[in-house]
Amino acid sequence: MGLSKTIWAKPSEFLAKEQPENPVLFFSPAVLQATAHRFLAGFPGLVTYAVKSNPDEMVIANLDAAGIRGYDVASIHEIDLIRRVAPGASMHYNNPVRTRREITDAVEKGVRSFSVDSRSELAKLAGIVPPGAEISVRFKLPVQGAAYNFGAKFGATAELATELLAEADRLGYAPSLTFHPGTQCTDPLAWDAYIRTAAQITRDAGVRLQRLNVGGGFPSHRLNQIAPELESIFALIDRVTGEAFGADRPALVCEPGRGLVAESFTLATRVRAIRDDAHVFLNDGVYGGLAELPLIGIIDRTEVRDEDGARRAGAGRDRIVFGPTCDSVDRLPGELALPSDMEEGDFVLFHGLGAYSTATVTRFNGFGLLDIATVMSLTD
Ligand SMILES: *Cc1c(COP(=O)(O)O)cnc(C)c1O
Repeated sequence: MGLSKTIWAKPSEFLAKEQPENPVLFFSPAVLQATAHRFLAGFPGLVTYAVKSNPDEMVIANLDAAGIRGYDVASIHEIDLIRRVAPGASMHYNNPVRTRREITDAVEKGVRSFSVDSRSELAKLAGIVPPGAEISVRFKLPVQGAAYNFGAKFGATAELATELLAEADRLGYAPSLTFHPGTQCTDPLAWDAYIRTAAQITRDAGVRLQRLNVGGGFPSHRLNQIAPELESIFALIDRVTGEAFGADRPALVCEPGRGLVAESFTLATRVRAIRDDAHVFLNDGVYGGLAELPLIGIIDRTEVRDEDGARRAGAGRDRIVFGPTCDSVDRLPGELALPSDMEEGDFVLFHGLGAYSTATVTRFNGFGLLDIATVMSLTD
């Protein structure tokens, strides 16, 4: 991945001057810091960042500068990244499956918080992690409202979570609970049942809950017609925690990935061809920066610019859009309305592409080289 040191005014300036053949991700530090401030001002607890959603060092450095002091990490590589770029930040090792070697390394590197969702992994931790550390039991509910099922892989049932929480407490760890309601949860109610179940698990386990981590899952702006309402979600989390826990209210933690980082990047792709005036072939697709679209749906916050960077203003026309590889799954879901006057060589920009884009790019079929350029503003 290339990284240009220059700071550009806006994407159109870069595109007109550089005429990039590869896709380009435009990064706005100002938008990232503003989003971080929105979370810090509104969320009723500790705001941490899920590193996997975009592990770029510039992202971590800007979150650190904005005042983010905790990170959800899932591997030793991510732990080392945070130690290097945001020294002093706390780390929550919230991948519930780790090797003994990884646990030992993490303890040595100063990690004091671990999630768990099984008896065997709790026993593994108990042999290595000193008492006093936080053990955060991850539980799950049958899914609803999320774009993607996060309970398919991780999370104990409420019954098992009760047992694990009581055991963590008995072993001398700070007992906490965590859940992940699913990614891109536009409905605040996704958090409601989880928080109430957390309170029930706590009562059944007979412990005093230290912290409740309400996960990631905070939505980003993907569709023009649906603007996410973060403040409504924050308010619901605050209110329901009070109602469910009463006087025994635990400290709250959140660990957004998408909700923090998505808005600060715009992906500029280029039209390789418009085949017989029908199918649009872009230079990026589902093996590159657009990997998530078939999983959680299209992003229609697009704009098209010509080779001089000027905006195409033609009426929208639904098109089938393909990526550059020869695999027939390399196609964006459904159809995308794009200006009727669009031409080969134009740029198609997708806004809100900061999460799960740089992180999951492949080099399949020789494509996927992605440049990152820093801009003052993502819009004109
Ligand atoms: C991926 C992940 C997150 C971030 O999820 P988003 O939907 O991007 O907010 C948070 N916590 C855990 C444990 C995760 O695995």
